This record gives sequence, C-alpha cells and structure tokens, in this order.
Amino acid sequence: MSTIGHLINGEHVTCGGRTAPVYNPSTGESNLQVELADRATMQKAIDVAKAAFPAWRNTPPAKRAQIMFRFKQLLEQNEQKIAELISAEHGKTIEDAVGELKRGIENVEFACAAPEILKGEYSRNVGPNIDAWTDLQPIGVVAGITPFNFPAMVPLWMYPLAIVCGNCFILKPSERDPSSTLFIAELLLEAGLPKGVISVVNGDKDAVDALIEAPEVKALSFVGSTPIAEYIYSEGTKRGKRVQALGGAKNHAVLMPDADLDNAVSALMGAAYGSCGERCMAISVAVCVGDQIADALVEKIVPQIQALKIGAGTSCGLDMGPLVTAQARDKVKGYIDAGVEQGAKLVVDGRGLVVPGNENGFFVGGTLFDNVTPEMTIYTDEIFGPVLCIVRVGSLEEAMQLINDHEYGNGTCIFTRDGEAARLFCDQIEVGMVGVNVPLPVPVSYHSFGGWKRSLFGDLHAYGPDGVRFYTRKKAITQRWPARKSHEAAQFAFPSNG
Ligand code: NAD
Repeated sequence: MSTIGHLINGEHVTCGGRTAPVYNPSTGESNLQVELADRATMQKAIDVAKAAFPAWRNTPPAKRAQIMFRFKQLLEQNEQKIAELISAEHGKTIEDAVGELKRGIENVEFACAAPEILKGEYSRNVGPNIDAWTDLQPIGVVAGITPFNFPAMVPLWMYPLAIVCGNCFILKPSERDPSSTLFIAELLLEAGLPKGVISVVNGDKDAVDALIEAPEVKALSFVGSTPIAEYIYSEGTKRGKRVQALGGAKNHAVLMPDADLDNAVSALMGAAYGSCGERCMAISVAVCVGDQIADALVEKIVPQIQALKIGAGTSCGLDMGPLVTAQARDKVKGYIDAGVEQGAKLVVDGRGLVVPGNENGFFVGGTLFDNVTPEMTIYTDEIFGPVLCIVRVGSLEEAMQLINDHEYGNGTCIFTRDGEAARLFCDQIEVGMVGVNVPLPVPVSYHSFGGWKRSLFGDLHAYGPDGVRFYTRKKAITQRWPARKSHEAAQFAFPSNG
C-alpha cells in the first residue's frame, strides 16, 4: 500500500497521521492511501506561503505569466498521463478526463494574460496637477478546497489566476482522488514557480478547519456540496475572510413542444449520463412541456440509455464509468429505491448493472424516471448519479416556476426553436448559467462560473473576470505633483472640481 502525502515548499512530506483509502472505482480495489494532514502540517504550508509572498507579490506580472505559459505546455505534454490518473481514481472515461483537463488548461491560458488583466485604471488630471489610478494588489495567502468530481479542472479554476495575481496558494484537494491534482501541482513547480507559492495539503475537515481558522489565510475559494459550502462561507466570513463557496445543483432542461427532439435527446444523453452524472452541471431533470413531447422523449431516449457503453473508465471508447466510491453507489441506489416507493415510474433501472470482469466496481447503469413530481426526493435532492427524472408540465410558465422554486440555481437550459420563449427563459429564470439548445452551459475561461440561490455563497463567481476581482484588492491612489513655484492656500471646503 503506497501513501500519498503533501507538497509543501516544493517537497513531498508526510506527517505520519491519519489516512484514508483511495479506490479504483472500476475494480473496487484500493492499493493506495492518502494522508489526512494534521493542523501542524497545514500550518507549515501556511508559514511557507506567508514567507514566499513578499518576493512573489513583487515579481513582475509578465514573469508570472511566463511560468503559466510553460505550465500550459507541460499540461499538454502530460495530457494522457493526467487523464489516466483522473480516470483510475475518479472512474470517469479517459475521453471525459481529457475534456476536463482541456477546460482546465483554458484557465491557465486566461492566466497567461496577467500583465493585461492587472493593468488597472488610470485618470490624468482628476484635479489640478492631480492624477489618479486604481491598482489591483494581491491579497496574500489564499486557499482553495476542491471536490472529487473535477480533480484537475476545478483546482485549475483557482490557482493559476490567484497566483498570477500575486498571491500564494494552498490547495486542499478532495481526499477521494488526489493523485492527478498533486501531479499537476508538481508540473507547475517544474514550470518554474518558486517553491512556497503553491502547496498542496491533502486532508479532510481538520485540514479545512485549520485553513478557516488561520488568520494568515485571507481568502477561501470552495467548490463542493452545499452544506459544506455554507459552512465554509459562514465560518470564513465570520473571521473576516473573503469567501466564494460554490455548492451543489439540480439542473433542469426544459423541452418545449417545438424542440428539435433528436438533437435534444443527444444533448440530454451526454448531459445526464456523462461522467456518470457526477457533474455539478449535469442535467438531472427533463421538464417536458406537454405530454406529446414527454412521450416522444421517452420513446427516443430509452433505447439510447439501454445502449450506453459502460465499463472501466480507463478503457477507451466508453460512454460512462463507475461512481466514485461504494458509498456514492449505495446513495444513488437508495435514491432510486425511494423514487419507486414515492410513486415515480421507473422506466429504465440501472441498479442491477454488472460489468463483466469488473464485478466489484462501483457501477450503476443509466436510470430514467417518468412522472416525477416536485415533492419526491429524487426531484428535490442532488443525486449525483446517472439518474434522469422527467417532470411533465403544461406550459413554459409552469416549467419556469418549478425551476425558480428549486433551492438550487446552478445551471439550466431550454430546447426550443422559439426565440421568444428562449428570450423569456433567459431573462426570467433564477439560475446563474443558462443554455439555449446547449445542455451544459459551462462558461469559457474568460467569462465567470457561478450559480444562484443555494448553489453559490458569496458575491463573486469563479475564474474569469470575477476571479480576478476575487483574488485582488483594489487600491485607489491619488497623486499630486505641483509645479515647483506654485502655492496653494489651505482649502476648508470639501475638494471638488466645482
Ligand atoms: P464535498 O462537499 O463532500 O467535498 C468538497 C471538499 O470539502 C473536499 O475537499 C472535502 O475534503 C471537503 N470537506 C468534506 N466534508 C467537509 C467538512 N465537514 N468540513 C470541511 N470540509 C469538508 O463534495 P464532493 O462530494 O467532493 O463533490 C461533489 C459536490 O460538489 C456536489 O454537490 C457537486 O454539485 C459539487 N460541485 C459543485 C460545483 C460548482 O461549481 N457549483 C462544481 C463541482 C462540484
């Protein structure tokens, strides 16, 4: 059994403390464990980051960006290895892992624009001989806490930008699939980042609490489930920290009667069952406007669900791998049981799936429920598995009311050919990211990512322009250089240009 430790000050360290098993979800086996950092280990990373900050904040943004250019190259050169590491511990298919990495690399590309991003604003002659500018300064030591479902992409949403903005970063990744995250951070050091500017500390609640409680840590970025997001937001802000905490989701796709059904079905298949439904932007509810489109959807989608190619994520050419852990599998199966008990119509049942050769893997097959109603737990809760629920409504207004009443507001989409309906939907829906005939409207790196309602705690979204605002503090400087012989009398009225 080998043990994964931490990356602090450019070195691999262990603290000899508690550990957690890391599974290969396709086989159900574990020959790896991850160390769960104690508070002293986390404090070491914080001290190292604090010591690295003065030199890093004064490193020219162009030099910081050059490191990101090299980092991007290294990520691309190591694409296959990273995808294999992701797949072996998460379970997603290699192709899906490559997709995740590519979207992560886009955030590195955005960070390469550091000198442009950090230019600030300048105004000449705001008063007599007075110029003013706004500076974007780093915050200091900042930390990120990330979920299991995107072990490469979500950390890359955070630290490339935080670091080019001049901060030092501590990453606390998910303890369920730590290897790819650690390897990627090693590549950043290989790209030339000074050692203390990034540390990766593995762990659980203890490690996170150490970050929350440390006065040296000025900001926390979190991505994970809603209860933990809320905890980190309230505990962090209580201590005066800047916090952005992205939480869970229940994403609805509205199918209008005029939708291009073939394309909508293809889109739904990928969005509901890709990554085994373990995506915060996965579509888990199809809201059909009228029975006709609902019946047509069921007819077309059932054979496609039954034909899903499911197996070990590390094999090529599959649609779907296993869930991440046995607990995740049991939780998903529990929800399917509850859906049946609560009266939904189980059209395709993935509970009995056995993958030959991988009988002990954490598999659940694609599952479809019809006639789901809003009080059922399969509708109210985030299942985070390959389960799609069909809810039948009578009108677009009813569909929108349903979505607006849900506690989550991460992503949603509408399938229609009617521009007026799409426009109304985009304008009135209470969800942070909206797609029109686009099932997974995950913003590109130069826009920002964030949900509404209980899908996001905090004011600023992740990455892109909001990420720059989050990882910098504005300083407004007003400067006068009077002409040598001029003299200005004392002025007691409030200074103005009036
Ligand atoms: P999780 O909340 O269990 O874990 C996320 C992080 O929090 C991990 O690093 C974990 O170690 C830490 N953590 C867990 N319990 C903790 C506790 N009690 N105190 C402090 N820290 C704790 O989430 P997960 O299961 O890893 O990821 C899946 C969840 O993340 C889903 O709800 C999904 O919707 C959400 N997610 C959201 C987004 C988004 O952008 N909104 C993106 C990806 C995933």
